[in-house]
Amino acid sequence: MNHYRLSSSSSRPLTGLTALWLCASLWLAGITAAQADNTFIEASAVPGGIAIVELGPATDSQPSVRWGKRTIAVMESAGQLQALVGIPLSTEAGPQQLSIVDADGSTRTLTFTVTPFQYEEQRLTISNKRQVNPAPVDMDRINAENKRLKVVKSYRAEQLIADSFDWPLAGPVSSPFGLKRFFNDQPRRPHGGIDIAAAEGTPILAPADGLVIDTGNYFFNGNSVFIEHGLGLQTFYAHMSRIDVQEGDRVSRGQLIGAVGQTGRVTGPHLHWSVGLNGTWVNPLLVLPSEAPPAVR
Ligand SMILES: [Zn+2]
Repeated sequence: MNHYRLSSSSSRPLTGLTALWLCASLWLAGITAAQADNTFIEASAVPGGIAIVELGPATDSQPSVRWGKRTIAVMESAGQLQALVGIPLSTEAGPQQLSIVDADGSTRTLTFTVTPFQYEEQRLTISNKRQVNPAPVDMDRINAENKRLKVVKSYRAEQLIADSFDWPLAGPVSSPFGLKRFFNDQPRRPHGGIDIAAAEGTPILAPADGLVIDTGNYFFNGNSVFIEHGLGLQTFYAHMSRIDVQEGDRVSRGQLIGAVGQTGRVTGPHLHWSVGLNGTWVNPLLVLPSEAPPAVR
């Protein structure tokens, strides 16, 4: 386990984002760095993992770090600055380059290496064929939703809000992160989160402080909530029976945000829970204190 402390925020402009998000950022600016200590992110430089790249000694003004088009979170650990890079599941193993602009305006490049990891396969039978091969009218909806999701996933608050994470509910993990999935024998995207089995109506609690940046009903994901925890670290909740928060709400760790359901493309009630970093899904276990959720009480 690695330990981090936020040193200062980046200065990415909010151009094109909603007025709500601007207000939220102004609100977030009131949070001091001392309240934003981060002691919870574990490194695993595999596809679907988080690479931690050393940037050098901490300075008053921190560098900005990009990986291609992605803005990368920078935090401090024991006087050293580090970049925390969320690696998409689709990334090939091998070297990758970060572009760094230091506080004095000078630029440099750092290389990190993505190591291979073989995720397991999962085959599911979905009885509602329209959810496997959506009708044209569904595709219009799905395409519109995908555009919205892209905007939501690209949002980042400029201060770290969370200081550690809890499991959002108790229950067994019924499907792990990264599974290569086949629906009715047709290959689909790998599993971008973990499934936690629980009865319909089981309360879902915010695992850390954050800001609700989207709620809605999506074709595949059903009733869904997105929470931004700062610096592009996000959590996502799907298939809910009920949503108890609204876009723009500040949530505290342990606060009720909704309930487990089976809305969207599911085979039974469960919480699909994802953790995002720099716009990509990463293994939620890398931000959690334990590999198993607490036992059902
Ligand atoms: Zn899932």
